[in-house]
Amino acid sequence: MKWLEHQRIRHILRHHPIPLEYWEAVIKGSDLFHRLTSVERAHLRELATLFIRRKSFSAVQGFELTTEKVVMIAAQACLPILKLGLDYYNDWVEMVIYPAGFRVTREQRRESGVVEEAAQALSGEAWLQGPVILAWDEIEADLAHPHSGRNVVIHELAHKIDMLNGAANGLPPLHADMSQQHWSTAFSHAFDNLNQSLEKHHHPAINPYAATNPAEFFAVVSEYFFSDPKTLQRHYPAVYEQLTTFYRQDPLE
Ligand SMILES: [Zn+2]
Repeated sequence: MKWLEHQRIRHILRHHPIPLEYWEAVIKGSDLFHRLTSVERAHLRELATLFIRRKSFSAVQGFELTTEKVVMIAAQACLPILKLGLDYYNDWVEMVIYPAGFRVTREQRRESGVVEEAAQALSGEAWLQGPVILAWDEIEADLAHPHSGRNVVIHELAHKIDMLNGAANGLPPLHADMSQQHWSTAFSHAFDNLNQSLEKHHHPAINPYAATNPAEFFAVVSEYFFSDPKTLQRHYPAVYEQLTTFYRQDPLE
């Protein structure tokens, strides 16, 4: 089986790679990918090619998905796993794309036991073992400002990586050479620091949405790691260091 799968992958990469015209348009069209070497870009193209084959992309609310848009999403989605491999995205298949931010209604259980329906506006969502949902207008805005610290595709895929060992909690499955204690110390100090500065009404070092909970913190710092690494490294160097070890990349190199 392994051998057959290997042959199949080789066949796809050799005969059905992402067409070069689309690939170059995406890679050269956004600063997000500029730091990558030519070898890394070629590897990212392979991962994105296989990502597109393995995932199902569906557009809703009349949105039209073109090859170029799918390639744009796949290239960003594969950036976090460039050195980790596509297996990190194994337990789900569906990508759902909305034209713009979407509203969802959720049941929220109050402490009193009352369940309320609350409407929320979202630009992306990742379900445990379920789909990744994204809003196209947000994806476009992120690519136009690649160093803003915001990237909805990376945010949702970071949740998926976090969910590899159960519900999202800000602790993805660490590599054997990593220490859970070092990770937890770095992340909890930074998380507390951000919450404290918000309580004091200070200007937050990073997107305050990160203060929501440890899962959102991990997703938001992952966005910074790939799109604005300088800001993350300056304010939370220990978190930055843990992420270089985890993602096996150093965007500031
Ligand atoms: Zn999130």
